[in-house]
Amino acid sequence: MSNNKKFVEAITAMDEDFAQWYTDIVKKAELIDYSSVKGCMIIRPYGYAIWENIQKELDSKFKETGHENVYMPMFIPKSLLQKEADHVEGFAPEVAWVTHGGHDELVEPLAVRPTSETLFCEHYSKTIESYNDLPRLYNQWCSVVRWEKTTRPFLRTTEFLWQEGHTAHATAEEAQEETLQMLNVYADFLENFLAIPVIKGQKTDKEKFAGAKATYTIESLMHDGKALQSGTSHNFGDGFAKAFDIQYTDKNSKRQYVHQTSWGMTTRVIGALIMVHGDDSGLVLPPKVAPTQVMVIPIAQHKEGVIEKATELKNRIASVARVKIDTSDKMPGWKFNEYEMKGIPVRVEIGPKDIEKNQAVLVRRDTREKIFVSLDNLEQSISDLLVDIHENLYNKALDNRTQKTFEAKNMVELKEIADTKPGFIKAMWCNDLACEEKIKEDVGLTSRCIPFEQEQVSDECVCCGKKTETMVYWGKAY
Ligand code: AMP
Ligand code: ZN
Repeated sequence: MSNNKKFVEAITAMDEDFAQWYTDIVKKAELIDYSSVKGCMIIRPYGYAIWENIQKELDSKFKETGHENVYMPMFIPKSLLQKEADHVEGFAPEVAWVTHGGHDELVEPLAVRPTSETLFCEHYSKTIESYNDLPRLYNQWCSVVRWEKTTRPFLRTTEFLWQEGHTAHATAEEAQEETLQMLNVYADFLENFLAIPVIKGQKTDKEKFAGAKATYTIESLMHDGKALQSGTSHNFGDGFAKAFDIQYTDKNSKRQYVHQTSWGMTTRVIGALIMVHGDDSGLVLPPKVAPTQVMVIPIAQHKEGVIEKATELKNRIASVARVKIDTSDKMPGWKFNEYEMKGIPVRVEIGPKDIEKNQAVLVRRDTREKIFVSLDNLEQSISDLLVDIHENLYNKALDNRTQKTFEAKNMVELKEIADTKPGFIKAMWCNDLACEEKIKEDVGLTSRCIPFEQEQVSDECVCCGKKTETMVYWGKAY
């Protein structure tokens, strides 16, 4: 490893400067380039290929659960955005406005969508008439713009790519079921596809989406102990329906308001991939999301028969994995480092000695372990290894979270942990906004969620001492 270091410029060590380490990876793994617009990024082919795999997987889950894709305009007339009071108040500081078309000032300014609830609502009010039109299960893949003050590639950008699900239902029960179903789709996706363990729970009123009755979230923990809100699912009740007059005629010919949900996941999860699995040699991609799962590297490729054999292996591996071969004239050491930086899960080395022994060398990116395998069962060895790498990455991430999850019973403990040990802190809370605000002010922690899996860490609110049965995950978040 140290031998090869000289071939590729090293990145900042994560323990030395985590923020710089992250920035180095997004650049050197060629995920993004900075653009001339602050807070906006150019997603390069390798970064975009990761996003495409995320899209493909999520989209198939949305379709399995009965959703259809649609496309709404990117502009929202000012009057439309302002129809639901909480919604407009929540988003006002982040909205970008178009005021001119060519040389002419617009009669009514247009918002660049920060989210599309209002557009969907207007459409629903025109197209939903009877109970036969329900449920309405729509999803949109697009980009949105939020004028963020501090930005970082993937984690928080001014324009970001996402999907937004928007559904309308006949009953409150159905809307709640949908909200939780989609939260579970997100949680399964993070755990089973991205190998990132999550905490599922509800947001406090302070942290919930502008206009929602309830917001549910999946929270993940990054390697440095900071939390990341990784996806959210909202139950709107009939609040938007009332503001936009979305009614249907029920079976008894009675007019009823619909009950709505929305849910979104963004390019932010690519940031989570980096910060959960990455190491000092670069990106580490879980196999299911990796654009290239296996890279074949011929050793001493000028020798007779090596490139032919390596190509033959590549073609065989193609039946079980996304595989590429690098036959360029760069040094093997350079190639090793390059593909480690890119986080490719498995490297296959094959040289003249291996060919003689009917073997290949598999090197796993996650542990760097070298495994000698017989060429007779190469395909099976590769597919087993990919499964194993996913499990190992998930377990490592879970270990990190377990080690960085603490409990506090009072403000002294809370502050002591917050100041010295980055991570999640479990502590009781009385459901009072004042205590939540005090914790933010005095200790610098925000509530991440009220987890579905509750524990009685103590009997009293960590802040005011009032009796309570509600436990909250607190943390510092990206
Ligand atoms: P929301 O519509 O506010 O519930 O946002 C949906 C999800 O988008 C959130 O749960 C975040 O994970 C993500 N998100 C919010 N703001 C940004 C941003 N500026 N850049 C990238 N992702 C974001
Ligand atoms: Zn309290």
